[in-house]
Amino acid sequence: MLESRPLKNLSVHLENLVQGRLWLQVIIGLVVGAALGVLLNPSTGLFTEDFSSWLANWLDLPGQIFMRLVQMVMIPLIFASIVSGIVSNTSDNLKTFGLRLLLYFVFTTIVSIIIGTIITLIMKPGQYVYSLGGLPHSGENLSTPVEETDLFENVPMAISKLIPDNPLESILMGEMLGVVIFTIIIGVAITQLPHKTAQPIIRFTEAIQKICMIVISWAMMLVPYAVFGLMAALISRIGVEIFLGLGYYMLVVVIGLLLLLLFYLILVLVVAKKNPFKFLRAIREPQLLAFSTASSAAVMPVSMKTATEKLKVSNNISDFVIPIGATINMDGTALFQCVTTLFMAQAYGIELSVVSLILITSTVVAASIGTPSVPGGGVIILSTVLQSAGIPIDGLIVIIGIDRILGMFRTVVNVTGDLTSCLVFDRFYGTGIASNQIIETEELKTIDESRGLESRI
Ligand code: ASP
Repeated sequence: MLESRPLKNLSVHLENLVQGRLWLQVIIGLVVGAALGVLLNPSTGLFTEDFSSWLANWLDLPGQIFMRLVQMVMIPLIFASIVSGIVSNTSDNLKTFGLRLLLYFVFTTIVSIIIGTIITLIMKPGQYVYSLGGLPHSGENLSTPVEETDLFENVPMAISKLIPDNPLESILMGEMLGVVIFTIIIGVAITQLPHKTAQPIIRFTEAIQKICMIVISWAMMLVPYAVFGLMAALISRIGVEIFLGLGYYMLVVVIGLLLLLLFYLILVLVVAKKNPFKFLRAIREPQLLAFSTASSAAVMPVSMKTATEKLKVSNNISDFVIPIGATINMDGTALFQCVTTLFMAQAYGIELSVVSLILITSTVVAASIGTPSVPGGGVIILSTVLQSAGIPIDGLIVIIGIDRILGMFRTVVNVTGDLTSCLVFDRFYGTGIASNQIIETEELKTIDESRGLESRI
């Protein structure tokens, strides 16, 4: 009896340590899941392929339930949060804030593309693959690059198409960019209403936001199991050989992402005037979740909570910046798309002129904005960049094989970029009011009003 005591103490101690620390639970899920995945991988010969894939489907289940629950409330949550974010800013504030946010997003995207270009031109991952025999090629002629004139002719059409003519269609098709733009227009229109007319809509959207967050908090209970299962299923399905030839290219992408992360930390220190180490500690939950799910959309609610509760960002900033950032601000994806395009050009032995480089860069800015925030979104959109640069898309087959892994890393960076922008803009435009405080003050106001009414009666 006595001998088992230290063990029991240890397990109680561990239980206390893990409880309430989601990030620790997620790390444990990640490591144990990955270890199980390695064991299940048919390459070890421990299990048959059929058994491994049958088990992987079951292991995937909590992760799939988590992702679907989050997706289920995603559109109402985006709508409610952006509207709340807009109405909690004064209209003067909103004009400069909105414009500057957009410019900031474009600026960080350009920085990420510059980092990607420099590192790929220096490290030349494609030449290494070229010397190994290059990437698969169907033998057809290279696709002709889109002419500059075509590109400029297409621009007005692309701009007008940003405004959804049928918002319900955007909702049904899950086109987040259309939903975000529709919501911003409606949100700004609400600010033009007289206070009394706007109030019911504002309270309604507040209630919708709260309802969505309650569903998310239920989904969050699944997170450690979801992460465990997603990792086990993922690693059990991945063939190890694929990493050998592309290991160097992957390293270049990861180094580029680390440099971008460093750039964010500099922004946190210099512009937001916050301690970057504390920032990293505060955001580990959304980062770990981003790593496990590879979807900024799935992490969006946790990012919002982290921004207000841990980073103490005002609610008028986080409600506005996070949903928009999760949809259009994808610097990690832009870096990946840039590195991969140049990598493939090198691997096919295609010389790129400065004009083509500039063309690729501008296409990547648009491509990263249009990338859906779901696993693998970045690689799907990449084909348009390649086509416009006249690079064969056959090689994408190889990239898709390893994309899930790279997607995990770039999603961490995408989410970190959104949280960094929250801190930066909070410094200049924050009202200093967190979400629960807003409800409290409004509730107090209503109570005061009804008290006033009572005393008059
Ligand atoms: N999965 C990424 C994200 O959600 C997008 C991408 O695939 O690059 O941020």
